[in-house]
Amino acid sequence: MGIPLATAERLAPLVGHSPTITTLCSHSSLQIFHGARKEGFRTLGLAAGPARRFYDAFPLARPDRFLTVPKMADLPSTADHLRGEAAVIIPHGSFVEYMGAETFRTWDVPVYGNRNVLAWEADREKSREWLESAGATMPRRYENAAEVDGPVIVKYYGAKGGKGFYLAKNREALEDFRPTGPYVIQEYVLGTRYYMHFFYSPLSDRGYRVGHGSLELLGMDRRDEANIDELYKLGAQEELLRAGIRPTFVVTGNVPVVLRESLLPRAFDVAAKIVERSIELFGGMVGPFCIEGIMTEELEFKVFEISTRIVAGTNLFISGSPYSDFVEPNLSTGRRIAQEIRRAQELGRLAEIIS
Ligand code: AMP
Repeated sequence: MGIPLATAERLAPLVGHSPTITTLCSHSSLQIFHGARKEGFRTLGLAAGPARRFYDAFPLARPDRFLTVPKMADLPSTADHLRGEAAVIIPHGSFVEYMGAETFRTWDVPVYGNRNVLAWEADREKSREWLESAGATMPRRYENAAEVDGPVIVKYYGAKGGKGFYLAKNREALEDFRPTGPYVIQEYVLGTRYYMHFFYSPLSDRGYRVGHGSLELLGMDRRDEANIDELYKLGAQEELLRAGIRPTFVVTGNVPVVLRESLLPRAFDVAAKIVERSIELFGGMVGPFCIEGIMTEELEFKVFEISTRIVAGTNLFISGSPYSDFVEPNLSTGRRIAQEIRRAQELGRLAEIIS
């Protein structure tokens, strides 16, 4: 048996009721609703502002119903209503971002996954502590500019999508950097990026065993990032800077990738250790998570970030991926979440996957 995350009180609305799979209409919601419908669940879409008309264009992924509030700040006050609906909230990146990590963490509704993970993920220092103590290799962090001995990426605290990032190819180039807030200087890792979509089930007693359950690899993508992905077409960095063009890493889409098969054992090993360490540190990360890193030419994998919930790159794989096809046909991450909730309910083990 895994570690109980939810109290009996938190789970009370779900006792004797089939859960309503509920999420915020954005990010990966089409996939979440589509997967839940395939598994026979009722679905509810939360929307701030006018209900999203574009869902009409996707009949198989449209939620059964919408719950609309005037603005995001009104969403926390729907808790009573959601408990009455036997809602299970499926968190995704935009949900937590728009609502605010702290509001989300204390929201009194059943949430799929362990909400304690938020404190470890949101803080760059804590997530480094978690990942490094799990044995993952991360990009080197420089205490000050004088230590720099190669290309670096400077990240402002809390900068999202890389808008506030600064690249310097060496220490001299860093001298032009004029900070406008607290930042960290990190080794710029040269290599190829991979965003690996894992799923940890504490309920499973088959497959690649980890912790109390098992680990699955459901897909892999690379993010399209504007403007960095196309910047090279304009020529050398110095010239671009003189022209006032700075690199940014704003995610605009995703492309599917696969990893050299010989590197897969290492990917599983890193993911397994991160899960095991999460169990020791905060009771365990459960469900989907994404390890984001760069494979160097020496075939060393350096992890620069972890996302501890469904990532938008999984939207590529609604009918399965080159990895999930070896687990089960037509398995998206959204569908896998719905299966896990059903299984936990059948086994009377909801407390291990809901918090
Ligand atoms: P982050 O906000 O940390 O997810 O980073 C946004 C993007 O910046 C990533 O998707 C990468 O393309 C790039 N990036 C972040 N850290 C590094 C690094 N240490 N070396 C090279 N590229 C990085």
